[in-house]
Amino acid sequence: MSIRIYNSFSRQVEPLTTLEPQAVRLYVCGVTVYDQAHIGHAMSALVFDTVRRYLEHRGYRVRHVVNFTDVDDKIIARSLEAGVSAFEIADRYARDYLIGMERLGVLPATLYPRVSSEMPAIVAMVQDLVAKGQAYAAANGDVYFRSRAFHDYGRLSGRSFEDAESQEPESGFKEDPADFALWKAAKPGEPAWETPWGQGRPGWHIECSAMACRHLGEQIDIHGGGMDLLFPHHENEIAQSEAATGRRPFSRIWMHNGMLRVNGEKMSKSLGNFITLDDFLARYDPDVLRLLVLSSHYRKPVNYTDEAIAGSEKGLERLWGALRPARPGATAHPADEERLAVAASQACVELESAMDDDFGTPGALAALFGLVTEINRARDAGLGAEVLAAAQDTLVDLAMILGLDLRRGAAAAGQDQGDAGDLVAGLMDLVLDLRAGARAARDWATSDTIRDRLTALGLEVVDTPDGSSWRQVG
Ligand SMILES: [Zn+2]
Repeated sequence: MSIRIYNSFSRQVEPLTTLEPQAVRLYVCGVTVYDQAHIGHAMSALVFDTVRRYLEHRGYRVRHVVNFTDVDDKIIARSLEAGVSAFEIADRYARDYLIGMERLGVLPATLYPRVSSEMPAIVAMVQDLVAKGQAYAAANGDVYFRSRAFHDYGRLSGRSFEDAESQEPESGFKEDPADFALWKAAKPGEPAWETPWGQGRPGWHIECSAMACRHLGEQIDIHGGGMDLLFPHHENEIAQSEAATGRRPFSRIWMHNGMLRVNGEKMSKSLGNFITLDDFLARYDPDVLRLLVLSSHYRKPVNYTDEAIAGSEKGLERLWGALRPARPGATAHPADEERLAVAASQACVELESAMDDDFGTPGALAALFGLVTEINRARDAGLGAEVLAAAQDTLVDLAMILGLDLRRGAAAAGQDQGDAGDLVAGLMDLVLDLRAGARAARDWATSDTIRDRLTALGLEVVDTPDGSSWRQVG
């Protein structure tokens, strides 16, 4: 079976077919680097990290390009405020972003082109569009794209020229209010580049068309970005790229992720619900955010709430807990061995079939948790270390396809620390078995004493319908 992806352009789920066999040219719109990375940026990066990891798992070579917008009004405003150059501001936040992505376990893109170092390609594309009559230099030194002259304009978004008009400020120099800027004439104090139309800087949309063309080719396989970029940004990208190259489609598939919301609201500084990635990572394991993002389908919004984060932490602990070693003295029946081996291969099939269907991460997670249940059951049944370890390895490998690093997480949580960890885990199994015995005998005093003494040692006992587990806190 091939991978099937929802294409925002055709509004249909389509089988993935690529320009070259077993290779994917993937372009994802990146961030404007004028401030710290926030969890909304992280969400989009995690979505496309999952896409890329899965494509690679299925044997595709992925050339993954993510741009940095480092020439922009917000960066210029920030640089004037801070009294440092726009270049310095952009470079600081680009680095901050990359560090955050590394901490989140996001695979680095093949390339992170920046507008400031792509100027020849951008200027060449604008020149090309002017030469083809698809764009014109206005009297004030701006260059505009003739939207109405591109007959497919609006096909991606279904939006009208009236909508396009409302997106672009009226400069008084446009032929038509629906035209959008490819190039903006320089204003005093702003970074500017020399061109045939005088000094200036690029509009926002043209950078992605020029970078995708330069680094991936005139046509690409998948173009990704947040739902908020669909109009006008991606609509304008299609118009620019196809008008310049004469090749259609510019991208075979358009993928758009849903937006992150905080307590059901849009995240914004003015609402005071703005969460930077640094703040998040100071409090939580990085995979807490990844698991939250994976828990809903990428086209749906993710709602960030305290309960959702708590649920995600619990889920991770459950995944990590499955790596606890076997109990000493194997007593399991061969049928238990067989059952676990079947469950492990079943989980592989389920994960792939969920992911093949438009990257269905909730189904993929269900496959992981199904395997966790079977591993825990097998351990309780007294399955030997070797057989248990094989299923645990499968679990770790499957989770890694989704970018969840269970070995790292379990080690950080103190549940997988080699020989010393095995001893602690074995002792804790013993203690929790004794406590379960006390509870079964309604000896609450002993049960509570055990829990309190463990708490004093920094070990929290978590009671669930499946039994008790433990974790190190603080
Ligand atoms: Zn873009």
